[in-house]
Amino acid sequence: MIYMLEDEAGIRNFVLYGLRSSGMEAEGFETPSALRDAMKKNIPDLLLLDRMLPEEDGLSVLKKLRGAPETRKLPVIMLTAKDTELDKVEGLDSGADDYIAKPFGMMELISRIKALLRRTSDMPPESDRIVLGELCIYPSKHEVFAEGEKVALTLKEYDMLLFLVKNKGEVFSRDSLLREIWGYDFSGESRTVDVHVRTLRQKLGSCGVLIQTIRGVGYKAGDDVSD
Ligand code: CA
Repeated sequence: MIYMLEDEAGIRNFVLYGLRSSGMEAEGFETPSALRDAMKKNIPDLLLLDRMLPEEDGLSVLKKLRGAPETRKLPVIMLTAKDTELDKVEGLDSGADDYIAKPFGMMELISRIKALLRRTSDMPPESDRIVLGELCIYPSKHEVFAEGEKVALTLKEYDMLLFLVKNKGEVFSRDSLLREIWGYDFSGESRTVDVHVRTLRQKLGSCGVLIQTIRGVGYKAGDDVSD
């Protein structure tokens, strides 16, 4: 369900008609208070929010939504005639996920809505997140993103990456990594670690440099410049 807060009936009806024609459920509201009443009963999947409104500015509506726990993460696209760079920055700073300047085409609006819904439904909650540089690990989901792209890792690659990143800055010998990741003393097989580090770096692409070789010692995770 998509909600739209827009005081101009012409634009509101045009957008609602377009969304429904493309198979989305949508409801429109003319004033912030009407939207708030509806939100008490149902939180939509996404909100299209006009900037210039009666009663209250769209930015102020957005700030209140972001301040309430149940709508803190509600995906919001701001729609506005004010399309200067400053307005755009203000809109995004106040917590809008995206921003579209009027006049906009229906096709563009729908593709932005779909992109935002995809982005927000794929992303696990921020609280469960370990970040190093452009690398993001979500332990509860066993998922790794490098520069926003999901990376498929084997179990051992994942375990090693998580271990190194959790202990970033700390250097581990190959033997200690074998013990930590494989769970027992595997002495003489330390090449196993090198092989896993190599494939891990390849899969991480430009984030591969975050796994650093410390010559003569072992490996560490860090976002400082490696030599
Ligand atoms: Ca308006």
